[in-house]
Amino acid sequence: MITQAVIMAGGLGSRLGARTKEMPKGFLEIGGMPIVEQSVRKLIACGIEDIIIGTGHCKEYYEELAKKYPCIKLAHNKDYADTSSMGTLAVCVPLVKESALILESDLLYDSIGLNVLINEMRKDVILSSGKTGSGDEVYLQVDGDCNLVKHSKKKEDLESIYSELVGITKLTRSTLDLMVKYMNDHKADQPKMEYEVAMSAISSSCHKIGVRKVEYYTWCEIDDENHLKRAVEQIYPHILENESIRGIRREVLLNPGPATTTDSVKYAQVQADICPRENEFGDIMGWISKELSLFVGAPGRVETVLFGGSGTAGDEAMISSCVPQDGKLLIVDNGAYGKRMAKMAKIYGIDYDTFVSDGIHRIDVEALKKAIVDGKYTHMAIVYHETTTGILNPVPEICRFCHEHNVVTIVDAVSAFAAVPIDMDRDCIDFMSSTSNKNIQGMAGLAFVFCRKEALESIKDYPMRNYYLNIYDQHHYFIKNNQMRFTPPVQTAYALRQAILETKIETIEGRYARYTACWKVLVEAVKRIGLKMPVPESEHSHLIVTIMDPESPKYNFNDLHDFAREHGFTIYPGKLSDAPTFRIANIGDIRPEEMREFTVLLEQYMKTI
Ligand SMILES: *Cc1c(COP(=O)(O)O)cnc(C)c1O
Repeated sequence: MITQAVIMAGGLGSRLGARTKEMPKGFLEIGGMPIVEQSVRKLIACGIEDIIIGTGHCKEYYEELAKKYPCIKLAHNKDYADTSSMGTLAVCVPLVKESALILESDLLYDSIGLNVLINEMRKDVILSSGKTGSGDEVYLQVDGDCNLVKHSKKKEDLESIYSELVGITKLTRSTLDLMVKYMNDHKADQPKMEYEVAMSAISSSCHKIGVRKVEYYTWCEIDDENHLKRAVEQIYPHILENESIRGIRREVLLNPGPATTTDSVKYAQVQADICPRENEFGDIMGWISKELSLFVGAPGRVETVLFGGSGTAGDEAMISSCVPQDGKLLIVDNGAYGKRMAKMAKIYGIDYDTFVSDGIHRIDVEALKKAIVDGKYTHMAIVYHETTTGILNPVPEICRFCHEHNVVTIVDAVSAFAAVPIDMDRDCIDFMSSTSNKNIQGMAGLAFVFCRKEALESIKDYPMRNYYLNIYDQHHYFIKNNQMRFTPPVQTAYALRQAILETKIETIEGRYARYTACWKVLVEAVKRIGLKMPVPESEHSHLIVTIMDPESPKYNFNDLHDFAREHGFTIYPGKLSDAPTFRIANIGDIRPEEMREFTVLLEQYMKTI
């Protein structure tokens, strides 16, 4: 899997005159965004986790960009004024692990080119196109196996012309090392070496570099005013059209999971077939597990154990794995999910009691604390965000109290994780479940149990009440074999990897802020329309809102559902047993404008009844 990219951005851009005198070329804006930022976003959408930018001229611009995208690492070419692209590439090479996409910073391109290179069998391969007529072409000559022989800006220098260099290449670290060596060997005679010179030299001597031609590829490089004009008037609109054709029909899910995902998460599922017992796939699962852990704890503090299954599998793994034979469990039940955990405890014959609360009012924390102390419980289970009504339980306060009284804490955070900022050590949570298809914004199919390191070790010898869902065995097997015990949902894992990359960029705090903005739009509209919400606003999770059915006898949830669905929004009925309600969730890849669109539909429907 290609996880790194290098952008060579050291150049002076002198052919653009005043425009780039005090700004790197990559910061030319087209369509309201610097072209290099567009490139960064395309790389991220293709699953690149590490973007190394070689800077030179006006590096402060890139330092700002790196603040916005934590996946960017900078390498500065001090000699940028006296070297050329190869000099900038050379300062980046030490950061490349196995293989990377190498790009020029002044490119405007259709993202499909990145997929072409990622999917190429050849490890070293240059992306090229048919005739562009751009006026600044770098022509390529190849051998019979489509390997680079020679490049030139002058047609007459070549025996034959196969294609034009785009400026996006996939290269292995060993090839890059050879290029750096070539540069160093020719410092005296060629101080300003372009990277394609080194590529040609390497490929024509010993180490073949392939050329992949995409005849009608949409791209351009921007070196002068004419290029810029062509980019704005022709290439950019063409790229937008190509990319929109590949867009997937937008459906906004306002049900409480699975949540709406980005197209890049949907596309991440499309990968070459792989046996999940290959080390390469084990490394991906290991990465997922490590990155998930880092969302909820300091490095090394939390282990995330993955299971094929929905969120309920995570809950069942915890209930069946985390309570010893002689343990006694208190389950807080203030909605359908607390009840579900109680059902599981009953099935497994675990000694348990429930602490019942109505899901509309805040839990009586003092009464709960008293129950915890009086009942001689060893374990306490609670739902972080009761999705039944959208109430957020005071989990840190309760769990801290539990730890003060040596009670192990089990938290269903299925619909809280990745929206509500959580630190398991700080919040005294021992075990916590979630799933790939809620706030992390991936596809359904993977359940996870986050375990504080010591808590995980403590359950080693507990009774194995469930074979498939045993946390300790699942973890132990993975650590030992770099494989899951049983077949994981492979494509869901790839999508989750992409969802994690995107969450790291948005940050959990940023995501909660976006969800809250959507919630505000919704709640304001609900009040304006005159609908009632049973849960007081101060207890809202900002992730889902329960709304009382209107009193009109003409109201019918199915009609409202169908009306919304026709306009691209999916909603979900209520889950309260004693009050007629419906729910609107505002999690997933949705924007406040879309929520506003939905509230217009809601208002329209309410006028018809
Ligand atoms: C969604 C959810 C679950 C799990 O539901 P699945 O359908 O099994 O994914 C568990 N607990 C809570 C609080 C939830 O919101």
